Amino acid sequence: MKTEQQAALNIVLFGPPGAGKGTVAKLVAAQKQLIHLSTGDMLRQEIELGSDIGREAAGLIAQGQLVPDEVVVAMVGNAVARHIPCPGFIFDGFPRTTGQAAALDGLLAARHAAITLMIALEVSEQEIIRRMLHRAEVEGRPDDTIDVIRQRIITYHEKIKSTADYYRAQGKYATVNSSITPDNTLQQILKQLSTVNG
Ligand code: AMP
Repeated sequence: MKTEQQAALNIVLFGPPGAGKGTVAKLVAAQKQLIHLSTGDMLRQEIELGSDIGREAAGLIAQGQLVPDEVVVAMVGNAVARHIPCPGFIFDGFPRTTGQAAALDGLLAARHAAITLMIALEVSEQEIIRRMLHRAEVEGRPDDTIDVIRQRIITYHEKIKSTADYYRAQGKYATVNSSITPDNTLQQILKQLSTVNG
């Protein structure tokens, strides 16, 4: 018989900045009763709190660079421990490197759980920049300037291949076109999930 965590649905949502990861992750979480964990949101909270992690992360985020693996892995480990047992997680913006992916596998395996599927959102670069500049006006995030956006897209492309390959090698990789509407993206994701054994 499967334990509760073995039966859990654990999704990794990946996508370039501006692909709508946060919005779509919230929709999937609501639909599937999953816990939504966004490392970007967690880091922004740490910055607001003025914690040691926040101070270390602020400069890197402002330059569009990644925060060290051990920092984000520890944050996610604590969050997972706080929420288990639960129907599963949607990890938003994590893992971003193969080191983080391996650490996440270890973390879940220790709780008799595993990643079900990594879903990479795809959207054109032109559309990304249009959305990000709009978000900069609305939310005022300091890392939403044109130069930092460009750097974040470069960082994304540098890392996506190996992280995608990591999950592809396990037969756990799917792409979804995220250029229409968040609801359209949600429907495509639900369709993908219906083909895997969650
Ligand atoms: P996001 O909100 O996911 O776009 O993340 C904003 C920024 O936080 C990124 O550009 C990175 O600097 C940092 N960040 C978020 N998640 C991670 C992660 N998994 N690994 C390293 N850095 C991260």
